[in-house]
Amino acid sequence: MSKTILTTSSGAPISDDQNSLTAGARGPIVIQDWQLIEKLAHFNRERIPERVVHAKGSGAHGTFTLSKDLSDYTIADYLNGAGKQSDVFVRFSTVGGESGSADAERDPRGFAIKFYTQQGNHDIVGNNTPVFFLRDPIKFPDFIHTQKRNPATNCKDAEAVWDFWSLNPQAMHQVTILFSDRGVPLNYRHMNGYGSHTYSMWNSKGERFWVKWHFKTAQGIQCMTEEQSRKMCGIDPDHAQRDLFAAIADGNFPRWNVKIQIMPEADADSYKINPFDLTKVWSHSDYPLIDIGTLELNKNVDNYFAETEQSAFAPSNLVPGIGASPDKMLQARLFAYQDAHRYRIGANYNDLPVNYPRACGAANYQRAGAMAGTRCPFDQGVTNSALSSTNYGPNSKGGPAEDAAVAEPPLNISGTVDRHDHRADADDYSQAGDLYRIMSDDQKQQLVSNIAGALGGASKAVQARMLPHFDKCDPAYGQGIRDAMK
Ligand code: NDP
Repeated sequence: MSKTILTTSSGAPISDDQNSLTAGARGPIVIQDWQLIEKLAHFNRERIPERVVHAKGSGAHGTFTLSKDLSDYTIADYLNGAGKQSDVFVRFSTVGGESGSADAERDPRGFAIKFYTQQGNHDIVGNNTPVFFLRDPIKFPDFIHTQKRNPATNCKDAEAVWDFWSLNPQAMHQVTILFSDRGVPLNYRHMNGYGSHTYSMWNSKGERFWVKWHFKTAQGIQCMTEEQSRKMCGIDPDHAQRDLFAAIADGNFPRWNVKIQIMPEADADSYKINPFDLTKVWSHSDYPLIDIGTLELNKNVDNYFAETEQSAFAPSNLVPGIGASPDKMLQARLFAYQDAHRYRIGANYNDLPVNYPRACGAANYQRAGAMAGTRCPFDQGVTNSALSSTNYGPNSKGGPAEDAAVAEPPLNISGTVDRHDHRADADDYSQAGDLYRIMSDDQKQQLVSNIAGALGGASKAVQARMLPHFDKCDPAYGQGIRDAMK
């Protein structure tokens, strides 16, 4: 077997990578040791800004297999024709911790999926919970500040966490899920995923439907108790990464049964809750789950940094037949994710292999920015290299042009432009109470005990403001926490 010669990044062979170039055996090192300088300079740049949220993650490649033709609801190519398969990349994560933090923290889990479809990448950037702490994005930075480190002590701050929640009872549903037995999944394989937001689909007749996505683990839900999670944080901070990688390497491919709930567009006006409120679920009995396929993870990454770290998911990565909804949190995320990636990776982050729309290619008039040139500009079949000098449209050079057939049907919106108070007609408590009431006695006991332990870290004043919120979900819920706090 011929030996591969070690080279510099510009391809020059290296004669000695074990000894620096020095003046005399004892040194000093001479500045003309450009091989050493390249190594050190590259090393200094081996990190990009970590994600402000979801910094610690694990990723894998896989496939989505459609089992039900959805052409009645959407023109999305990858959802038309039962049996169709699409490549996917999935990244799981925790939310609040830094990139070196423990996988076993009590925290929601990110569950982001990139479907590489024939009409571009479709990303569902979800969580392992069907709801979120907020319904208005203007509070998102404030909320995340409470989950990260105190600006003075640089420690996690229970007072900030509970102070904020006590003043924002819209969080009660998600707080109940977070402190329930499902608040710490055993690993990434044994948890569900949810698109969480309401998205839309539209069909060839121009009919629109509101849609919720569910990814139900085929491995079965398994969780850690508070005590088990505390131990795991110390024993192996990377346990979920290790578990996912080992399972896939062993051929034990994790799967999720993919389901959707579908609401005809007109129902949104009369449904008992605001279907665009991210703190609420749609009852399964009102909108049953429909099986549409299977998600399977079957290939580990070769280079964690290139693939998982540089993977860039965005709720705005939508494809024809799939759209957004008025959900205020989704609206903000349509901006925020792309913006985060441009800051974190650079303007051409979509040209990186893990982010590139590999099933169809991309064709537009963006030619510049950091790392430009890694993508063939007209790789949708137009191969004339002279066209690459055209960076404007319309043009008479045969450059890419629009396709009116993929236009989204118009959406009726009415109302006044105002800072509408989303607290005015919102019910923050019923669905949190519903969840409490479907729990077994053991689950209820874990819930109140987990909350008591965490709320105990806040001041008496904050505790006193927080406890009545649990009473409003269910009197037994509040009483259970009081008893556990004793
Ligand atoms: P259903 O009885 O039809 O569904 C209850 C759902 O709750 C199931 O999806 C179940 O998941 C899930 N669940 C059970 N225990 C927990 C837990 N500790 N944490 C999070 N989810 C849990 O009822 P409804 O549709 O009427 O909803 C009732 C409540 O169930 C809601 O208020 C909400 O809190 C919760 N829920 C509802 C979901 C929805 O989309 N409707 C989704 C997830 C939760 P599984 O089937 O995997 O066991």
